[in-house]
Amino acid sequence: DAKFDVVIVGGGAGGIATAASLLRRKSDLSVAIIDPADVHYYQPGWTLVGAGVFEPDETARTMASLIPAGVKWIKAAVAAFEPKNDAVILDGCQVVKYDRLVVAPGLKLDWDAVEGLPETLGRNGVTSNYRFDLAPYTWQLVREMRAGRALFTQPPMPIKCAGAPQKAMYLSGDAWHRRGVLKNIDIQFMNAGGVLFGVKEYVPALMKYVEKYDATLNFFHNLVAIDGAAKKATFKVARPDTEPAEVTVDFDMIHVCPPQVAPDFIRVSPLADAAGWVDVDQATLRHKTYENIWSLGDVMNAPNAKTAAAARKQAPTVADNIVADIEGRSPVAAYDGYGSCPLTVERGKIVLAEFGYGGVLKPSFPKILLDGTKPSRAAWFLKERMLPPIYWKAMLKGREWLAQPEPIKVGAAE
Ligand code: FAD
Repeated sequence: DAKFDVVIVGGGAGGIATAASLLRRKSDLSVAIIDPADVHYYQPGWTLVGAGVFEPDETARTMASLIPAGVKWIKAAVAAFEPKNDAVILDGCQVVKYDRLVVAPGLKLDWDAVEGLPETLGRNGVTSNYRFDLAPYTWQLVREMRAGRALFTQPPMPIKCAGAPQKAMYLSGDAWHRRGVLKNIDIQFMNAGGVLFGVKEYVPALMKYVEKYDATLNFFHNLVAIDGAAKKATFKVARPDTEPAEVTVDFDMIHVCPPQVAPDFIRVSPLADAAGWVDVDQATLRHKTYENIWSLGDVMNAPNAKTAAAARKQAPTVADNIVADIEGRSPVAAYDGYGSCPLTVERGKIVLAEFGYGGVLKPSFPKILLDGTKPSRAAWFLKERMLPPIYWKAMLKGREWLAQPEPIKVGAAE
């Protein structure tokens, strides 16, 4: 069987960044990344593809071009974990062994959980920025729409990039406003949760745009079925104080953010918590039961905002702690829960939400340069021009700009 010092499951944002960060610390490590995908996506760019700002190709690179030099790429899917034998089992039953394991396969978009959705996606006015091939259809629908009703859905938490459903709404509203057709379009936000955004400091700025685009906010509305041909969407309405009910709403266009769950092979594994996510210490990102396993990115259960920005901070934390462990030391780095959500409120302006565990604000810039609670051109410039190169050229290469972990507090680790 193949055996490596460190095996990384998943070559996405978190997996590639961790491999690069590990090799910068210890270039003689044998590291393998296991991932079946030919293409690696910069998913944060899809919101801007759906608004006609980015071309789809700008958000995709071949996996082969991103695997760090010196890392072995095993092009296969992991099917199962055997943590007691320090082994993962690939599809086709091949075994790969490790001294230390990093688990970063992202999450599963559960399109099938909405009845009728898979068969109508990409047709009948049904779209989603959550898929590379569908984000251009969002922009096509927005461009073509002159009148009617547009629905934007948000499923129950946790989801990756919790702001993305409303970003699609604001950028569509802005395009209709600029074309002078907004007054003929009825925008409805259908949110399974009970608040517009989970960190209250950002809500006032967002509400100004809800008013500008005359969008109606519907809380506790969870999409359960779509009839594409009839252009009808059905929602379970579960307000805390009333009996559950169902409503069916006609639409001309609907932007769906799909329900999101832990990947099946994680959920059924010994690494998962009761909800199916990888069970880690939220500071060290080390597995709570298996001492030679770490996890980062969307798949694990720390209560941070699931974003690439979070993975950017988590990768150096995992790398520091793995190297410390190899050298026989205790964990040295702690992840503070940082996550970021650039809320694109109009073309050219962003409300830059940056926060850590417990919703504590964690701005990267002094307020006088960039106040995240207010819409700003500086934050749009950051999102459109700075963050893509920071992702490709820094984060995925182990250059840890804007990503220094906190030193661990004694006693806080275990
Ligand atoms: P991913 O990057 O999704 O990578 C997972 C990898 O694991 C994939 O390559 C996959 O092929 C591989 N894999 C899956 N199953 C297996 C298996 N069985 N075996 C081996 N490999 C496997 N983040 C931000 O920071 N800012 C934003 O503005 C933002 N906007 C977003 C907008 C949209 C529409 C979407 C969809 C996401 C957005 N995100 C944003 C979130 C961000 O893209 C994710 O949080 C980030 O990619 C998570 O990284 P990851 O490594 O955990 O997973």
